[in-house]
Amino acid sequence: MAKQKKTVEDSLALKRMSVWEQATATQKEEALSISSEYKDFISRAKTERMVTEEFVTLIGEKGFKHMDEVKRWKAGARVYMTNRGKNVACAVLGKTPLEDGANLVASHSDSPRLDLKQNPLYEDADTRLALFKTHYYGGIKKYQWVNIPLSIHGTVVLSDGRTIDIHLGEEPDDPVFTICDLLPHLYRKKQADRKLQEGITGEELNVLLASQPHQEEKAKKKVKLWVLDHLHEKYGMVEEDFVSSEFEVVPAGKARDVGFDRSMIGAYGQDDRICAFTSVRALTEVRTPGRTSIALVVDKEEIGSDGPTSIKSRFVEEVFSRLLELKDPDYPDRKLRRAFSNTKAISSDVTGAVNPSFKDVHEIQNAAKLGYGICLTKYTGSGGKYSSNDASAEFMGLVRKVLNDAKIPWQTGELGKVDEGGGGTVAKFLAELNMDVVDAGPALISMHSPMEVSSKADIWSTYRAYRAFFEMVP
Ligand code: MN
Ligand code: MN
Repeated sequence: MAKQKKTVEDSLALKRMSVWEQATATQKEEALSISSEYKDFISRAKTERMVTEEFVTLIGEKGFKHMDEVKRWKAGARVYMTNRGKNVACAVLGKTPLEDGANLVASHSDSPRLDLKQNPLYEDADTRLALFKTHYYGGIKKYQWVNIPLSIHGTVVLSDGRTIDIHLGEEPDDPVFTICDLLPHLYRKKQADRKLQEGITGEELNVLLASQPHQEEKAKKKVKLWVLDHLHEKYGMVEEDFVSSEFEVVPAGKARDVGFDRSMIGAYGQDDRICAFTSVRALTEVRTPGRTSIALVVDKEEIGSDGPTSIKSRFVEEVFSRLLELKDPDYPDRKLRRAFSNTKAISSDVTGAVNPSFKDVHEIQNAAKLGYGICLTKYTGSGGKYSSNDASAEFMGLVRKVLNDAKIPWQTGELGKVDEGGGGTVAKFLAELNMDVVDAGPALISMHSPMEVSSKADIWSTYRAYRAFFEMVP
């Protein structure tokens, strides 16, 4: 009886220890090594297109072949597909038939940012400065995007049909761009009493581009002309080409270690590229799994998962179909439905870690902390679990056992106090396919900001957790 009581009392003891306290020296080394790979990745992959390119290179090096090159099912074979340059699905084929289910980890590659408007370029007549108009993408706190160095990444379809990529602001010799806030000396009447949400408004998020007039004497807007002339000379662009472009303005620069102890990473875009990286990287370590392991990286999560590159498009169905066709080109439709129904999924997305300066938005007993391992979020949503995939006791039990058996530190969390706010992920869309799914990913401080903070211990825990999940036989 005494022993039983001790077990009851201590069953949550490990949850009160940070990963750093539990990890062995070898595990700490592993954490630093995977975090260093991640830092390089996140420093380069600034847009969903760049994430896709990085992954195609990474998995190519690890022996993954494009689906078009693979003729038939072979356990242990490594395959991948992309979609419109913005989605990646990679899989290691299992020993059991796909209709018995896959182990799927789905993350998203898009991050909050500023997109250029369709007709973005203008010259302010009084100041004679040239700027870009923007429309923000995803949930940002707009005041965080002023007075910081910004880079521009664009894909442009020119009038002759050629597609060009433009990247400016990441290399040490590149110029950067910026959005100018009002000086404190003059902000009292105009800005000081605004609510924080309106501190900077959407239409004030204008990107500074140039101040030099063109030599052309007759031109009216000479600074705008200078920019147009430059774009034409350097990239062959004309103004109308902005209509057929996607330009993303993002924080410039590389990921950095944070803290005296270098235990954390500060970078833009960690939501959700931290999960995309750890899941794809974990998949490259999987050999011949029992069930087929799939890492799926989708786009448009930050604006509600609409559009043909989002989780709601039928790309997921296409991936499963192509895999089924490797065994039987004329597979019956029920096999696809059975494959979905029997698939176990992790919606791999980040959650909010407690910020010591703003603790009271969380109910601390159920809040995720930095450095305490991958966070299982049974439900997200808001206002009474509304719009949430609420994972079942059975599936939580399975995932918990997988993590405990593999001795991977984990924690639970919810996105803030009941009625405080909330948010959603791709979980509920996978659940629409009748998959069991739970949200699991690292917790970040300052999520959606230009400098999100993660823990190297959590990166390691997440990477190990996804690998264990891929190799799980339920
Ligand atoms: Mn996310
Ligand atoms: Mn997000």
